[in-house]
Amino acid sequence: MALIVQKFGGSSVADAEGIKRVAKRVVETQAAGNRVVVVVSAMGDSTDELLDLAGQVSSSSNPREMDMLLSAGERISMALLAMAIHEAGSSAQSFTGSQAGMITDAIHGKARIIAVSPHRIKTSIDKGDIAIVAGFQGMSQDSNDITTLGRGGSDTTAVALAAALNADVCEIYTDVDGVYTADPRVVPAARKISTISSEEMLEMAASGAKILHLRCVEYARRFGVPLHVRSSFSQLEGTWVLPNPDDTIKIQEGEPLEQPIISGVAHDRSEAKVTVVGVPDIPGKAAEIFGIVAGAHSNIDMIVQNVSTHGSGRTDISFTLPIIEGADARAALKTAQADVGYESVEYDEQIGKLSLIGAGMRSNPGVSYKFFKALSDAGVNIDMISTSEIRISVVTSADLLDTAVRAVHAAFDLDGEAVATVYAGTGR
Ligand code: ADP
Ligand code: ASP
Ligand code: MG
Repeated sequence: MALIVQKFGGSSVADAEGIKRVAKRVVETQAAGNRVVVVVSAMGDSTDELLDLAGQVSSSSNPREMDMLLSAGERISMALLAMAIHEAGSSAQSFTGSQAGMITDAIHGKARIIAVSPHRIKTSIDKGDIAIVAGFQGMSQDSNDITTLGRGGSDTTAVALAAALNADVCEIYTDVDGVYTADPRVVPAARKISTISSEEMLEMAASGAKILHLRCVEYARRFGVPLHVRSSFSQLEGTWVLPNPDDTIKIQEGEPLEQPIISGVAHDRSEAKVTVVGVPDIPGKAAEIFGIVAGAHSNIDMIVQNVSTHGSGRTDISFTLPIIEGADARAALKTAQADVGYESVEYDEQIGKLSLIGAGMRSNPGVSYKFFKALSDAGVNIDMISTSEIRISVVTSADLLDTAVRAVHAAFDLDGEAVATVYAGTGR
C-alpha cells in the first residue's frame, strides 16, 4: 500500500464547494488503495484577512499572538475537511500542527522545523482513517507556544510529514496545472514544465515563483521526497520536481533530449530597496551596516555599492530585503547613524525583481546579451543586477515588471501555443 501526502492550498478549499470537491478527491485516492495524509491551508485569502484584522486593532504586531491568530485559519479548514470526508463516506481525523508533532524553534512568523514526531498521524492512518494536518504551524520546543513557518509554509509542512512518514510521494495541489515557465497570471503563454530538477526549482522559488515554498523544495531535496505539483481542479498530470540530480528525467515523446537552456522566468514584488547614502569609504563600513541589518533579522537579497553622487570619499550602499522586514531594518539603521557616519537612508517599495533561470545557461554564451537586449527593447530600465551560475536577476520599477517578464519570456522562445489555465485564486 502506497502512502501519499496530499497538500491543498487556500484556493482549493476557498469555500464549502471547494472543500467538498477536495474531500471527494481524497476519498477517491484512499479508495484506490492508498494510505492518505492531507495537509490543508487556510480557506481562500483568509490568512490575509486575519492579517488585515490584526492591523485594525493594533499598530504594532505581537509575534506570539499573531501566530495564535494566523494558525486559526488552518484549523478551520482542517475540521471542515474532516466533516466533508465523513459526509463522503470515509473517516478522517484532523490534527493541529502541534498534535501532529511539528516541533519548531521559537521564532514566531518564520519558525524552522526542528523535529517531526507524527505518532498520532501514524496511529490514525494505521487504523484506516485519513489524517488531516493543519499546514504552516507547529509548536516551539522551548516555549511550548504555537508558531507559524512563514507565508506559504503549508507546502513545507507537507514535505516534512512526507519525509517523516517515508511517504512515496508528496502531491501539492493548487490552482494551476503545475510549474510553468512563468507565472501564468502574468504570462498567459507560459508553458507547463513536465519535470524540473530541484536545483532549478530552488532558484525559481527563491526568485519569487510562489508556486512552491522555498523551504519545501530544500526539504524535499535533502530528504529525497518526490514532489508532484498539480491542480486540484483537473485530473491532469502536473510537474515532477526531481529530488536528486542523478534521477532520470522521464523524456516524453516530442521533447528534446538535451536539457533546455532556460527553465523559466520568475518575478517577485515582495521586496523593497534600501539605499544607505554617503557611507564613509573606508574598510569595515559595509560589515558594520550588514551587521546592524542582520541584528534586525533582515534577509538581504541583492547588494550594490556605488561611488556616491553626494561628494568624494563616500559611497552609497543599496540592498533589497522583504518589505515586511523594511521597518525594523530602517529603525536599526537610524539608531546607528551617528556610529556608522552615513548621511541618510532612502527606502523604495515600488520595485520588482525579475529572474531568468536555467541550468543550461552556465554553458551557453550570449544568454546575458539576449536578456539585456530584451529588456532594453521593451524600454525597461535596470536598477540592480545579480547573477549566479544558473540565474540572472534584475531589479526594475514595479510598474514595468509585468512587461519585462513577458518580454524576456518571449525573447527566450518560452511562449507556448496555448493559453495557460488558471482555475481559481486571486493571486493575492
Ligand atoms: P496555493 O494557495 O495553492 O498554495 P499559491 O497562490 O501559493 O497557491 O501558488 C499558486 C500560484 O503561484 C499560481 O496561481 C500562480 O499565479 C503562481 N505562480 C508563480 N510562478 C509560477 C510558476 N512558475 N508556475 C506556476 N504558477 C506560478
Ligand atoms: N495560510 C498560509 C498563508 O496564506 C500558509 C499557506 O497557505 O501555505 O501563507
Ligand atoms: Mg502556496
